Amino acid sequence: MPAVILDGTKIAAQIRAEVGEEVKQLTAEGLRPGLAVVLVGHNPASEIYVRSKVKACEELGILSEKIAPLESSTTEELLALVDDLNRRDDIDGILVQLPLPSHVDSKKVLLAVSPEKDVDGFHPMNVGNLSTQRPGLVPCTPAGVIEILKRSNIPIVGADAVVVGRSDIVGKPVAMLLINGNATVTVCHSKTRDLPAVCRRADILVAAIGRTGMITPEYVKPGATVIDVGMNKITDPAEFQKFFAGDAKREQSFAKNASTLIGDVHPKVVEVAGALTPVPGGVGPLTIAILMSNTVKAAKLRRGQRVPTAAAR
Ligand code: NDP
Repeated sequence: MPAVILDGTKIAAQIRAEVGEEVKQLTAEGLRPGLAVVLVGHNPASEIYVRSKVKACEELGILSEKIAPLESSTTEELLALVDDLNRRDDIDGILVQLPLPSHVDSKKVLLAVSPEKDVDGFHPMNVGNLSTQRPGLVPCTPAGVIEILKRSNIPIVGADAVVVGRSDIVGKPVAMLLINGNATVTVCHSKTRDLPAVCRRADILVAAIGRTGMITPEYVKPGATVIDVGMNKITDPAEFQKFFAGDAKREQSFAKNASTLIGDVHPKVVEVAGALTPVPGGVGPLTIAILMSNTVKAAKLRRGQRVPTAAAR
């Protein structure tokens, strides 16, 4: 029996609806949540991401402010900008879109974001909060992975979970969230020996590698839940055929767009897994939904510090 497809778009819509209600309530109290997105320069992919984030804010009633400093901005100028946003009462969340230009010290800029406004959850303070199970802001994509599991009623407690990838932004926080959820967690990387055998032990297998279709059926225990975080673009027709020959829907969209999105999981895994997130339409949509949810969470964490606006007083 083919795997149950876990519909990330549907789960993201549920979360957005819930967040929208919270925004309404906070706004009625004079505490409309606000998100500042800083986009330095003109990276086309970053511009698309920022546009979707601003649009999501508008749909949910969150105040959004896009700030676009020049590509030539120095580290010091960006630090001053972040400092200004840290001080602003109407801004609850600050997101610095990566990558920053190569002459900028990205780590220094990210570290300058106040932990209570760090809606990306990358600040060491929030990393520490996560690993010690204190309240804080959790990175969006990893939190999205857990939401998919929870809302699809996939048991985490006691499950054998294997995470392939150990990056600070995906692999490690996913592993930490699974540990906090009482799974037994193995984290794999490029030096792991006999990766297929380790992966085959997993009840929950999370792929966050950045390698097109690398997780083939031999990596998957029959019936396992497979979460595909990978987002890779295929433009080469021969490579497309290797993965999607005979898939009429994909062939149609490839013919139209000359590219398609594929995860780190091979399409044939659908024949072995019990449940599987598709790409696109799996983990991807959750990232922005959780960003919205983090902005509201940050606004709530700051309740009591913020001055309600005149409109609601
Ligand atoms: P990184 O490149 O930072 O990390 C990749 C990890 O995979 C590393 O830990 C690396 O190991 C490991 N790895 C690479 N090759 C192998 C291999 N052959 N065998 C085992 N492990 C390997 O990537 P990210 O964590 O930033 O992203 C991972 C994927 O998730 C990408 O496809 C990215 O596009 C996608 N992504 C999707 C998001 C979404 O919204 N859906 C958001 C963020 C990322 P080592 O540490 O040893 O080098």
